[in-house]
Amino acid sequence: MSESNCLFCKILAGEIPADIVYESETAIAFRDINPQAPTHVLIIPRKHIARINDIGEDDQSIVGSLFSAAREIAAAEGMGDEGYRAVMNCNEAAGQTVFHIHLHLLGGRDLDWPPG
Ligand code: AMP
Ligand code: ZN
Repeated sequence: MSESNCLFCKILAGEIPADIVYESETAIAFRDINPQAPTHVLIIPRKHIARINDIGEDDQSIVGSLFSAAREIAAAEGMGDEGYRAVMNCNEAAGQTVFHIHLHLLGGRDLDWPPG
């Protein structure tokens, strides 16, 4: 399941440290190393899936669990009622730099729309 050259698989394996804020059977979440908002958490599946384009029919519940995690973490961070953004980039043109899918959970400030 894990990819030897994948940064986020290495975080999952404990080979690279991260500030982990959430763990479930299917997903973990940790603080982004270069936060773009007061709260910026990355929520990733334990299963290595490189891009949105690689999500299979069998992965539906895993991907759904990323949003459950987003809701729980947003509440724990005190921004559940105020509002937050959960966004996933696919491929280089959208800004994807780590090819293990991750939901960016951003909040704690007013967020512009549309994003750049
Ligand atoms: P993306 O550009 O959508 O692929 O997002 C990748 C995110 O991973 C960026 O926001 C980076 O700041 C973040 N990132 C890269 N390396 C690490 C790391 N070691 N720990 C936590 N976040 C990281
Ligand atoms: Zn991976």
